[in-house]
Amino acid sequence: MSPQRERVLAEVDRAADEIVQYAVDLVRIPTVNPPGEAYEDCARFMGEDMKLRGFEVEYVEAQGRAEHTPRHPRVNVVGRRRGGAGRVVHLNGHFDVVPAGRGWTVDPFAGVVRDGRIIGRGACDMKAGLAAALFAAEAIQRAGVRLPGTIEISGTVDEESGGFAGVAYLAETGRIARGRTDFVIIPEPLNVDRICVGHRGVYWFEVTAHGRIGHGSMPFLGANAIEGMGRLLHAVETELAPALLERLTAVPVVPDGARHATININGIEGGQPVDGIQTPCIADWCRAVFDRRFLIEEGFDATKAEIEALVRRTAALAPGVEFDVRDLMVVHPTRTPDDSPVIAALDGAIRRVLGRAPAIVASPGTYDQKHVARIAELPHCVAYGPGVLDVAHQPDEWCAIEDLIHATKVLALATLQLMDA
Ligand SMILES: [Zn+2]
Repeated sequence: MSPQRERVLAEVDRAADEIVQYAVDLVRIPTVNPPGEAYEDCARFMGEDMKLRGFEVEYVEAQGRAEHTPRHPRVNVVGRRRGGAGRVVHLNGHFDVVPAGRGWTVDPFAGVVRDGRIIGRGACDMKAGLAAALFAAEAIQRAGVRLPGTIEISGTVDEESGGFAGVAYLAETGRIARGRTDFVIIPEPLNVDRICVGHRGVYWFEVTAHGRIGHGSMPFLGANAIEGMGRLLHAVETELAPALLERLTAVPVVPDGARHATININGIEGGQPVDGIQTPCIADWCRAVFDRRFLIEEGFDATKAEIEALVRRTAALAPGVEFDVRDLMVVHPTRTPDDSPVIAALDGAIRRVLGRAPAIVASPGTYDQKHVARIAELPHCVAYGPGVLDVAHQPDEWCAIEDLIHATKVLALATLQLMDA
């Protein structure tokens, strides 16, 4: 490795305490989503810090989005450091975190550092990743290495709720775009020795069963919508789910169970409110929401057609009950091309820093790569960052400091290599 690269790695080691402190400072800003607390504080914290480090900084409010409100403004931040005429490498992290939930043994927003770990909501997913991105750029600068291209760092909102006011907005407004951005790395917590090349598709849909109300003492005189929905649930369990289990993707989705197509029932309601005063009525409505994860090999059209056929078959078995299906959200599967330079650059950097070959994986759930691929039309995007995926969203979420330092080094080396690509 060149002496320049050695100096960069040495600067990461020298900055270790600062890197941890930066991640801790971010954890202490409780950017809880929903509803989207303290977004502006977090964007300003990152932006003002980047200005002091010599970045050009732009704050990007998601104008026109319904979720961008005076009470909970959706404010993103983009920092840019220009060097030579080489490639533009964009490091993007979301700064929203899911609610803390119960079961914590420490204050989730205190930024506790203990036993080599940063503990707190967002420590792993993904404020450590933001710290790694910033200090990858910082280490290059401090090592006195001339930047061959441009490095951009963005902190964005709402990834946990779909990213529409975050990365999608940056892509729609041309801030992340094919032609002006060459490579995107998202330091999500996919484990420090794995490169994540995409995710399965998502189809969220709502099924409503419409029955006919009647006196509850004579259920044969009406049509019970809950019973109709029961038939659909039975068909999902006995017909659809076993069929999905047979379908295996060639994409290396982790964990193993997620290499299959899956379906989950998110929620159900129907008939009379159970806490209310009860009257003898046949339930004339029932609604359920489903989360179908589909494979790149299945495609969306076939996935939707299969659901519609299942609903039609069920309706034939439920006289008097009618069903309708409404799409709530569709996310298409995405996969980085195998020969993408961004995979090669991270592969080389991981081998150098960790001394072992990385695993190439895909994520069980979606993340902001979908917007980079679909809206920005930029295929050269992956997720790579510090933190163990399994502890994301859990109580006592943590990120190992060693992983954070390693990931910072990997990002610095990969960024330099990509700029020369
Ligand atoms: Zn995340």
